Amino acid sequence: MSAKYAVFGQPIAHSKSPQIHEAFAAQRSQALKYERIAPNEDEFESAVEAFFAEGGQGANVTLPFKERAYAMCKVRTERAEQAQAVNTLWMENGQLHGDNTDGAGLLADMIRNLNWKLINKRILVVGAGGAVRGILGCLLTAGAQEVVITNRTFERAEELAQQFNIRAVALDALAEETPFNIIINGTSASLAGESLALPLGILADSAYCYDMMYGEEPTPFMQWAQTQGAEVSDGLGMLVQQAAESFYRWHGWRPATVALLKDMRDASTETLS
Ligand code: NDP
Repeated sequence: MSAKYAVFGQPIAHSKSPQIHEAFAAQRSQALKYERIAPNEDEFESAVEAFFAEGGQGANVTLPFKERAYAMCKVRTERAEQAQAVNTLWMENGQLHGDNTDGAGLLADMIRNLNWKLINKRILVVGAGGAVRGILGCLLTAGAQEVVITNRTFERAEELAQQFNIRAVALDALAEETPFNIIINGTSASLAGESLALPLGILADSAYCYDMMYGEEPTPFMQWAQTQGAEVSDGLGMLVQQAAESFYRWHGWRPATVALLKDMRDASTETLS
């Protein structure tokens, strides 16, 4: 019988996780069933309990349930504690365990796939929602010279700055900052087709700009960054890498990601042409 996995979210029909995990499992001819589950708002906890009671071996969790998954876990990894959100669940010794693989996924994409150098770089993180909370702990291990956070609602940036012991700078004070080598857009502005209100001159020479969002076309932030001469990426590689981290957590085996990421990019180009 196939091992049973799932992703919980609402909405979830768009999720690429089944495709990614099935491709990982195929690399070693492993039979794996991975489904999408969209519980009603008030039924997330009971749906997770039923899934594991019925033999589910691992689950991913996405919006809007990551914080509730965190609250359900009896045992959590350090990075899940830092994020206060969980995207990877499994049972061990009869207890629900939780991890957060988003930050590791982002780092793996930037460093291994994109070959971006983070050591001694000045990094600006824009946004202060769940996604940014999920990546800051890992990002701070990458050897950057400084990680600075900004956000439309400045108080939220200040809260995270305090938790992670970094500096928060208001959007309208960014023009006074030394230019940044890397900007990570962790907001959902791109989802609304909006760019960020960043000042000219904020990017150093040969800068990198990463939008955690992914879609079929470059986001407004990526387009802005390209006009400033920066190298850009969307967040599809982060999605694949965070899945690889979950896969490793469940199966103790690290899948290859480069060819899959290329296939997914090629497929999305074909859809457009
Ligand atoms: P949240 O709703 O928790 O936070 C949204 C953030 O975006 C807040 O900081 C909010 O600012 C800011 N924001 C929203 N609209 C605008 C705007 N028009 N201009 C400026 N800032 C804005 O969302 P998440 O943190 O969960 O997700 C953020 C993004 O990260 C999403 O696009 C999501 O797709 C992506 N993501 C990608 C992953 C991947 O694997 N690639 C994994 C996880 C997330 P304010 O506080 O002022 O409201």
